[in-house]
Amino acid sequence: MRIILMGPPGAGKGTQAKVIAERLSVPAVSTGDIFRANVSAETELGLEAKRYMDAGDYVPDEVTNAMVRDRIAEDDAAQGFLLDGYPRTVAQVAELDAMLADAGQSLDAVVVLTVDKEEVVQRLLKRAQDEGRSDDTEDVMRHRQDVYTEQTAPLIEVYDERGLLVEVDGMGAVDDVTARVFDALEKTNGAPAS
Ligand code: ADP
Repeated sequence: MRIILMGPPGAGKGTQAKVIAERLSVPAVSTGDIFRANVSAETELGLEAKRYMDAGDYVPDEVTNAMVRDRIAEDDAAQGFLLDGYPRTVAQVAELDAMLADAGQSLDAVVVLTVDKEEVVQRLLKRAQDEGRSDDTEDVMRHRQDVYTEQTAPLIEVYDERGLLVEVDGMGAVDDVTARVFDALEKTNGAPAS
């Protein structure tokens, strides 16, 4: 299975990505996590990415695209992967299309978690307290929501036109959301239930 998981900041993508990927026995590839690991390790990529991330802006496409291309070319992703946080721009969609075409692969589904805006803000404020992420301040948070609306929300239509879109209610308990995702995937193209 090759799946994209989408949703606004705070929709619970990271949490769901790990659970879903494990059940499908594919790696969860989170661009946010890869960037954060690079920031922690103070790599060149991390230093470059950090200024954008701290401001709530997207890291430039060339940087992100190259990183994803390398990651999904690794052996563990040969049979499938779940992308969390990529693609996030129309240009990244085109780049991912090219990567998949080069490898003779295609996408199976694009899962979008839909959430209530107010609940998302509450979740993010809680995460700011619990994890102390440097991009979880209120101003940056708001900016990230705007960037999502402007640059990433349009991707939903792109994938809908391709017949790949699976919209799932992301509200409520983690397990309930996971169950909804698998129900929805089974209805589309028979993803294994376990
Ligand atoms: P969230 O899910 O809360 O939006 P992520 O952990 O997915 O956060 O991403 C954190 C930050 O990493 C983003 O705000 C952005 O700066 C950067 N980032 C992650 N994925 C991408 C991407 N596909 N393109 C550009 N920047 C990205």
